[in-house]
Amino acid sequence: MKQVVLVLNVGSSSIKYQLLELDPSAAESRDSGTRLATGLVDRIGGGGTGTLTHKRPGTDPYEITDTFADHEHALAAVLAAFRDAGPALDTIRLTAVGHRVVHGGTEFTQATVLDEAVLGKIRDLIPLAPLHNPANITGIEGAGRAFPGVPQVAVFDTAFHQTLPAAAHTYAVPEQWRERYAVRRYGFHGTSHEYVSRRAAAVLGRSAAETNVIVLHLGNGASVSAIEGGRSVETSMGLTPLEGLVMGTRSGDIDPAIPAYLERVARLDAAAVDEALNRESGLLGLAGSNDLRDVKKQADGGDPAARLAIDVYCHRIRKYVGAYYAVLGRVDAVVFTAGVGENDPLTRERSLAGLERLGIAVDRERNESGDRDERFISPDGAEVAVLVVPTDEELEIARQTLAVVG
Ligand code: ADP
Repeated sequence: MKQVVLVLNVGSSSIKYQLLELDPSAAESRDSGTRLATGLVDRIGGGGTGTLTHKRPGTDPYEITDTFADHEHALAAVLAAFRDAGPALDTIRLTAVGHRVVHGGTEFTQATVLDEAVLGKIRDLIPLAPLHNPANITGIEGAGRAFPGVPQVAVFDTAFHQTLPAAAHTYAVPEQWRERYAVRRYGFHGTSHEYVSRRAAAVLGRSAAETNVIVLHLGNGASVSAIEGGRSVETSMGLTPLEGLVMGTRSGDIDPAIPAYLERVARLDAAAVDEALNRESGLLGLAGSNDLRDVKKQADGGDPAARLAIDVYCHRIRKYVGAYYAVLGRVDAVVFTAGVGENDPLTRERSLAGLERLGIAVDRERNESGDRDERFISPDGAEVAVLVVPTDEELEIARQTLAVVG
């Protein structure tokens, strides 16, 4: 029987939501559910004017602009959008609300039905995700008031990576940091890595349990993971989402001594360096835009900074593919997903160039076809398949939500 789930992704300054109808028994199949409504509220809490856009298939988008002072106002506006533009939530039998929660620490290894105790643990994890977990909690509390009696489920960005072996999740740092302050690799984008790796196995016609894949999630945030037999064994993001690949505004890997150096030579304190590494670095820091489409236009126009940004971006990806090949020993597929991974042939081609000795090659025509579906971009008979698999985090959140509410 079809069931309806409201998926809420409450970020530090935005709310994304989807009302999804799906058949839980078809969860492993290609059934991607029916979007009854999707929406986005941006610029929450910034003081400026934000926009709520609410879309239903087959109708014109419903839009309102307002100063969304905080998440509570924004959530109230979302509920009003459902009332005014439909579907009316009080006439639909909501099975559950699924929340994206960024940090689950070591506490949460899978999606979990929310109650006061679980909420308390998510609160205890705020020091690890000071911007994200508080926003997630506002969403959980708001939905609890709006939909009394409807089960709510937390789906954690970190949970899928809790299978990392100690050798991969341990930083070689003093014991007190590790024991008392929980310093270790957690990894993020877990919902996407899980969904995409499972779909990749299906595209290869194999079970996830016998498939090894490297997943490149290249969005505004970007991370790579090594998945062995359906379990995450290595991933590039760490204690926070700052580590690893070059991202829209994040630096990814740097020498950990750079903050102390900048403190000495430029009197920048740790908070200022953290802010710059998270918000003023990556493609933005190198080329002046966090959007790869703009950076590519600049590069086409001959801008050397933009060309360098693309070189650095692709070099970092190639370095990780090589490293994760070594971690896995045998790789069945390299999989591209998210905004850049799904849409940018240049990044796919350049990141994997020169890896033929590893059995990795990209077929130019397949890579450049405008096809949007799950697909091979490697030549026939290649030792390692190269795939593009569109991610669907909302569907995966809805699926996991239904799986735990039964
Ligand atoms: P988020 O992490 O915010 O969910 P997305 O997965 O939507 O982000 O990815 C956003 C990134 O995808 C942006 O850097 C954007 O430039 C890039 N992108 C989207 N479409 C294209 C395209 N056609 N070509 C190149 N890059 C693209």
